[in-house]
Amino acid sequence: MADDESRGRKLQVANSRPEDSGRGLAHIPRTLMAALGITEGEVIEIVGKRATPARAVLPYTEDEGLELLRIDGLQRANAGVGSGDFVEVRKAASKPATRVVFAPAQANLRLQGSAQALQRTFYGRPLAQGDIVATAGHHRVVDPNVQRWVNAPAYALQEIRLAVVSAAPKGIVHIDENTEVELRPEYEEASESRRADVTYDDIGGMAGTIDQLREMVELPLRYPELFQRLGVDPPKGVLLHGPPGTGKTRLARAVANESDANFHLINGPEIMGSAYGESESRLRQVFEEAAKSAPSIVFIDEIDSIAPKRGQVSGEAEKRLVAQLLTLMDGLEARANIVVIAATNRPEAIDEALRRPGRFDREIVVGVPDERGRREVLGIHTRGMPLAEDVDLAELARTTYGFVGADLAALTREAAIESVRRIMPRLNLEDGSIPAEVLDTLSVTRDDFVEAIKR
Ligand code: ADP
Repeated sequence: MADDESRGRKLQVANSRPEDSGRGLAHIPRTLMAALGITEGEVIEIVGKRATPARAVLPYTEDEGLELLRIDGLQRANAGVGSGDFVEVRKAASKPATRVVFAPAQANLRLQGSAQALQRTFYGRPLAQGDIVATAGHHRVVDPNVQRWVNAPAYALQEIRLAVVSAAPKGIVHIDENTEVELRPEYEEASESRRADVTYDDIGGMAGTIDQLREMVELPLRYPELFQRLGVDPPKGVLLHGPPGTGKTRLARAVANESDANFHLINGPEIMGSAYGESESRLRQVFEEAAKSAPSIVFIDEIDSIAPKRGQVSGEAEKRLVAQLLTLMDGLEARANIVVIAATNRPEAIDEALRRPGRFDREIVVGVPDERGRREVLGIHTRGMPLAEDVDLAELARTTYGFVGADLAALTREAAIESVRRIMPRLNLEDGSIPAEVLDTLSVTRDDFVEAIKR
């Protein structure tokens, strides 16, 4: 029987395409759809460490016949799984929500505003309490009443990640016109908070780099027993080098999130600036915290400022700090489940002792993105944006030679600001909120990008 066949059938998790990120879709095999007795657009539940709902859609053409579940980074976080894991998929149903409470999923984001707009953006989308969802714009959602694909209106000028703080009734729900939607201005960190602020989907033009880091860092953190059984010591330290703004910090955060590891940041210049003796104790403290909360990633940004070549520095402070870092690295046990990732744009400037075996003995180059990479980065940063028809991201990618990720992010922000300038005269700022009719007409045009490039 179909039911028996589908029971216990495990699919391997893989990443969905960047353009599908934030849409709440799950690509599953046709045969599984048939076995579950569902058609495209119906609700399923992905069961990993947690369960999260999605809308089932057909596999990408290249996946036909493969036992794959393609979902995005937020969905992986919501299900508590990583790429490569095996999970089960169940048929599910969503009930109309009586009430849904959202809050920003980023600690530094304060949101004011319109719960009504959220209601439109997430209309019909299956949700479960504890999930993190994105307001990615110009995506398509299923209107449960009419059972067809409709465009979800953009919520803001950029993608915003929200936590579903609570949803009633219990279980999987969807928002409809009768749902009471509330938006809390500030995020309260839940105890079992899975940080989904950055995933691999949020990094453009780095597929190869991500693969390398997954192998070196994510797999050992997620499957420590496997590495112990094989008698392979996973690397303790990985050095990322590349120009500023190419996404090294973002990458390290994504690896931590996707590995379900805690992220501990050490800012090189900042720690150097501390008072006498304080820098070392700060360093020790971070490593101690990392050990306590393992699996952990310690990320040292601008390591060249902490650990310049000892011959070249006169300062005693620097020498002591390098020595402290070396001691801490050497003291890390292979099975401690801690990986130290350091970033620099001057690999030749750091103390050679740090690059010996057992320390930062792996290196990954993070380069300036090429045209294709720029296209991907632009896609990521315009994900939640109401883009006008005339915006051609491929053309923009061609004309932004030399731009790194941070430049491209700034460009999209500028273009968005341009579009707001255009509608300013129609806004009543004392109102405090933008009326839906005005918001609906808001779109970022090709000209806005042209203006932004000029700046
Ligand atoms: P680095 O650590 O290399 O100096 P960051 O990770 O701090 O760079 O990047 C700064 C910002 O630039 C990021 O928060 C992100 O908005 C953007 N950015 C940089 N590189 C990328 C990328 N490859 N893909 C997407 N966004 C990027």
